[in-house]
Amino acid sequence: MNSALRQLSATTWAWVQDSTDWGFSNAGVVSSQGVSLLFDTQFTLDATRAMLREIDEATAGSAIRTVVTSHQNGDHSWGNQLLPEAEIITSRASAEHMCHEITPEQLTALSHAKGVDSTSRYAARHFGNFDFSGITVTGPTRTFTAREEMTVGGVTVELIDLGPGHSAGDVALHLPQDGIVFAGDVLFQGGHMIVWSGSLAACVESVDALLATEADVFVPGHGQLMERAEVVDFRGYLTDVQEAAVAYAQDGLPLDRAAARVHAEFAGSLAHPERLFTATAGAYADTGALGALQTLELVKGMADLA
Ligand SMILES: [Zn+2]
Repeated sequence: MNSALRQLSATTWAWVQDSTDWGFSNAGVVSSQGVSLLFDTQFTLDATRAMLREIDEATAGSAIRTVVTSHQNGDHSWGNQLLPEAEIITSRASAEHMCHEITPEQLTALSHAKGVDSTSRYAARHFGNFDFSGITVTGPTRTFTAREEMTVGGVTVELIDLGPGHSAGDVALHLPQDGIVFAGDVLFQGGHMIVWSGSLAACVESVDALLATEADVFVPGHGQLMERAEVVDFRGYLTDVQEAAVAYAQDGLPLDRAAARVHAEFAGSLAHPERLFTATAGAYADTGALGALQTLELVKGMADLA
């Protein structure tokens, strides 16, 4: 397999995975004057170790003093324990969401249950090959709200608290000097958006906040690097889905039937079109037609649609 580590500027690297499947997430590094900041870890300890080895080589052994966590999904944070010396920072909204996340033990149990229901089969298919053993979920040591500027060696970085959207609290990392944004799962490339927060409108607002940085290069949480025009297109895809789903909600169509229609209209060639269930549910919650669904209800909805 080719290395996933790509240098974007003199002081910035992106960890960009080729796969758009569940659990293969991107990350980033800023390194200057012997110190580094890491944006997100990986789903498993082995995957995080492999990434850290390459980062260590690329940055000549710089010490990772800071980890910024984009949100609390395991594929972005379950490697945090491998950086015990680092300060781990996320937004307050993201930190508060931690206790509602599925645990490594629960995900292992669900994906190995050999159940015949749609959720068990979906979990087995997409998560059954990951080894979550040894993971101690490790949260932030510090939180922030709104915006925070930090320096990493000689580089200024900006942490942006995006509020809810993809998750209950998402964080992006903006590098003003390089015109680069690490977006976490506010952006997906090559695959469909997942809406865990119960608000598709909030996802659009998050994308707007990323575009407002005026950056040219965007590192999505999953998929390949995106240029500004692709981010604008992604916003258009979200608002098209939103418009269709809101119309179905106003017509009184049940959620599962609306999701099937949205799937038929918008699946296209992107990976995991069943995730359109979560976007439809988010739009329904935005209109007040339904409350926000819980994680397992969203997984069941995707599994039934897949
Ligand atoms: Zn992710």
